Amino acid sequence: MTHQLHPQTLAIRGSKEQTAYNEHQQALFLTSSFMFDSAADGAAIFAKQKQGFTYSRTANPTVTTFQKRIAQLEQAEEGIATGTGMAAIQAALLTFLSAGDHLISSRSLFGTTAGFITGHLMRFGIEVTFVSQTDVSEWEKAIRPNTKMLFLETPSNPLCEVGDLEKLAELAHKNNALLAVDNAFCSPAVQQPLKFGVDLSVQSATKAIDGQGRVLGGIVCGKAELIQKIALYVNSMGLSLSPFNAWILLSGVETMLLRVREQNQAALKIAQWLQKQQKIQKVYYSGLPENPQVELVKKQQSGGGAVLAFEVKGGQEAAWQLIDQVKIFSKTANFGDVRSTITHPWTTTHGRMSPEDKLAAGITDGLLRIAIGLEYVDDLIWDLQQALGE
Ligand SMILES: *Cc1c(COP(=O)(O)O)cnc(C)c1O
Repeated sequence: MTHQLHPQTLAIRGSKEQTAYNEHQQALFLTSSFMFDSAADGAAIFAKQKQGFTYSRTANPTVTTFQKRIAQLEQAEEGIATGTGMAAIQAALLTFLSAGDHLISSRSLFGTTAGFITGHLMRFGIEVTFVSQTDVSEWEKAIRPNTKMLFLETPSNPLCEVGDLEKLAELAHKNNALLAVDNAFCSPAVQQPLKFGVDLSVQSATKAIDGQGRVLGGIVCGKAELIQKIALYVNSMGLSLSPFNAWILLSGVETMLLRVREQNQAALKIAQWLQKQQKIQKVYYSGLPENPQVELVKKQQSGGGAVLAFEVKGGQEAAWQLIDQVKIFSKTANFGDVRSTITHPWTTTHGRMSPEDKLAAGITDGLLRIAIGLEYVDDLIWDLQQALGE
């Protein structure tokens, strides 16, 4: 009996905490603490001589079920869930970095992550070097004796540049450092970073895992030994995921692969349609066959994901006009939702960066980012077409 279950089955059947009531759906354990049968029982559970739950900041059966299901999809030994994606990033980084340690990070980061690194990590005396998302030689040159961790998100937001996970994992391990990857853009439905030697796959469950724009959540997956250390940090810092949100996220996981597969196909169709439009200068999507990184994308991802960016001719004025003309796309920065969204990175997600820094990162004032939901794809194309005035 060595049949390997498909991820679609694991997303539904991968784990469950069953009570005596024989409920079919995973039960929601909305309780802050758990009782002991006796004084001796309480002592044994606290001393970890006996398995059991004590307090929901430390562990909760609904949260545990969520962690196990995602860990299986990430092909990881274990996962530790957090209240938000940012809490997962904080926990993954600060469990292993102390004052005097050195972090190498890709320059192409989610805005709040960049703010966390420059505004807080550095304040705690952690040295940081920012390097290119795609040029591994920059990472090599940045290595120092005190380098403890390498960090990136791939593909990058919003330009969909892909980092080489296998090469970066090799580099990290040769130098006794860990490689942590933010997998929110792809989700475990499209990419399992651990397959390429990555130590920690971190993500915002708020995106494709929830998939319906309801709750915030995060998770870090990896080897048991690393995750157990992060779990201690999450517990003492109070970053835990609420059982209610874990229960919502579990229903998201069950349909995630189906949703993301549909979104991958729709995003590719829209990217290819955009390429043919006169008013569009350039389209950025990791799933495009013309993408210069196509081989790396094929190796690491099972699709391009739901997010793509494109540059409209005519700069900010033309970009804003398009946003104001769309009828279906929501004007909001979230992604991974069933509702498609559109944003102008220059004035929103990347608004705090200087114009020089934005241009250096390839973000122009005519660039728009769209995240594809689950509306009928031809309706989305119609919406973009009428908004372009074609
Ligand atoms: C949304 C997001 C985060 C932060 O997650 P929250 O759940 O909003 O805290 C981090 N990284 C990436 C790439 C994201 O898209």
